[in-house]
Amino acid sequence: MPLSPEHVSNLVAIVGADSARGAADLATLDPGVDPRNLGAGLMLRPRSTDALARALAYCNERRIGVVPQGGRTGLSGGAESRDDEVIVALDRFSQIESLDPMSRTAIVGAGVTLAALAERAAAHRLAPGIDLGARDGATIGGLVSTNAGGNAAFRHGTMRERVLGLEAVLADGTVLSELGRVRKRNEGLAIEQLFIGAEGTLGVVTRVALALVERGASPATALIAVPSLDAAAALCDAARRHPDFDLQAVELMSGNHAAAACRAAVATELMGLAAHPYLVLVEVTRPQTAVAEAALIAWLEDALARGLVADAAIAQNDTQRLRFWRIREDWAVDRERPGGLWYDVSVPLAALPAYVDACRARLASHDPALALYVIGHLGDGNLHLTVNAERPIVERYEEIAPLVTDELPALGGSFSAEHGIGLEKKATLHRLGSPARLERMRRVKAVFDPNGIMNPGKVL
Ligand SMILES: Cc1cc2nc3c(=O)[nH]c(=O)nc-3n(C[C@H](O)[C@H](O)[C@H](O)COP(=O)(O)OP(=O)(O)OC[C@H]3O[C@@H](n4cnc5c(N)ncnc54)[C@H](O)[C@@H]3O)c2cc1C
Repeated sequence: MPLSPEHVSNLVAIVGADSARGAADLATLDPGVDPRNLGAGLMLRPRSTDALARALAYCNERRIGVVPQGGRTGLSGGAESRDDEVIVALDRFSQIESLDPMSRTAIVGAGVTLAALAERAAAHRLAPGIDLGARDGATIGGLVSTNAGGNAAFRHGTMRERVLGLEAVLADGTVLSELGRVRKRNEGLAIEQLFIGAEGTLGVVTRVALALVERGASPATALIAVPSLDAAAALCDAARRHPDFDLQAVELMSGNHAAAACRAAVATELMGLAAHPYLVLVEVTRPQTAVAEAALIAWLEDALARGLVADAAIAQNDTQRLRFWRIREDWAVDRERPGGLWYDVSVPLAALPAYVDACRARLASHDPALALYVIGHLGDGNLHLTVNAERPIVERYEEIAPLVTDELPALGGSFSAEHGIGLEKKATLHRLGSPARLERMRRVKAVFDPNGIMNPGKVL
């Protein structure tokens, strides 16, 4: 049943008329990655923790479902909402409250975008230590709530390693404020850590204390064609061990992904590289670009002699560097063949080549019409696998999931690397998650949200 007019007017009165949007208004907004994100009967955009706490307490007493939203760039359906639910948007929590260059920490509102924090930190030669393709839209609250990874996680860890403390509002309006700015803080159970990766199911994250990292100096970037996934894994290992590299990124893509992105970018000069089975994007930094380039070239020559490299291009300027990144980050495949399926897995690097080959073989024997595209953060063994066909196959997610995911536990991998469970991976969690763990997850949820109003139906 849609949200009643009485609830709508009471909630609008709590946050103020200029801080709410009705269902008709929502239809005019950009829903983000998932068209079902804005299905709610009301969106609240509170200006303060206090107003948010009062709105949550109201919803809790009346069992009204609440869906927290940041940039709506999430990829697992965690921000989807229905007409009997209320969206809590954090866009008004958009202040970088403090940035302390000496302790390399920042306290930021949950609605601050990753790009805004990166820009502010860059002025102090610092960086958030997290980077990903959705940097312009993804918010700190969303990144915390999905425990986002991205292309720097192999170096600085996922969001969990970046968070020093946080403030969250619980379902009953209780404010939990643990905004410590030190890494060493053993004061009993680290309750605030539970909100990292909770996908909005335990409460609403409002402010976050983050550890920043040194910003890499001048980058040199290579797009490298490799003959096989074994070569890609060996190349990644060699890059990580190189004594002179300040390695910033080591990203993977299959040739068919790169070819689609090259077509979209009219990057004819890179088509030759995309004709190879896999490509690796490597970025290193040194105090001067020329030094970084010289180190990269010497390393590539050695890798060529060892048969790990088939061909390579080195970015000659920043425009070319961004073009290489565009080939990695563009989702041209989904525009060329819409209605594909995305899987987000991680595998120990040593097992990765055999896993992809086996997965490809399983898909081909299941249905020869299925095509597999691979991109990923190679340093973490994190792969994003797109499975598609000439026609949309969205309804086949559960049918195909076991072919992609069910080998992973035995390999020590994960069926859910960095995008979270949301709605999309719920069935896989229930298939592969241990009953003992799922039961503890339910009990923890009940402690924080006994009435089950926080992001109902997501994760569990
Ligand atoms: C082009 C592109 C590239 C991407 N690359 C990566 C990548 O490399 N690595 C990666 O990890 N992800 C990646 N993502 C996914 C996405 O950017 C991340 O999941 C991001 O963390 C979502 O942030 P958001 O602010 O958009 O959250 P939303 O999409 O708004 O929400 C995501 C989830 O978090 C919850 N949530 C949001 N804000 C709060 C809050 N303040 N309190 C409590 N719960 C909250 C929501 O309820 C939902 O469950 C990519 C997405 C795109 C579109």
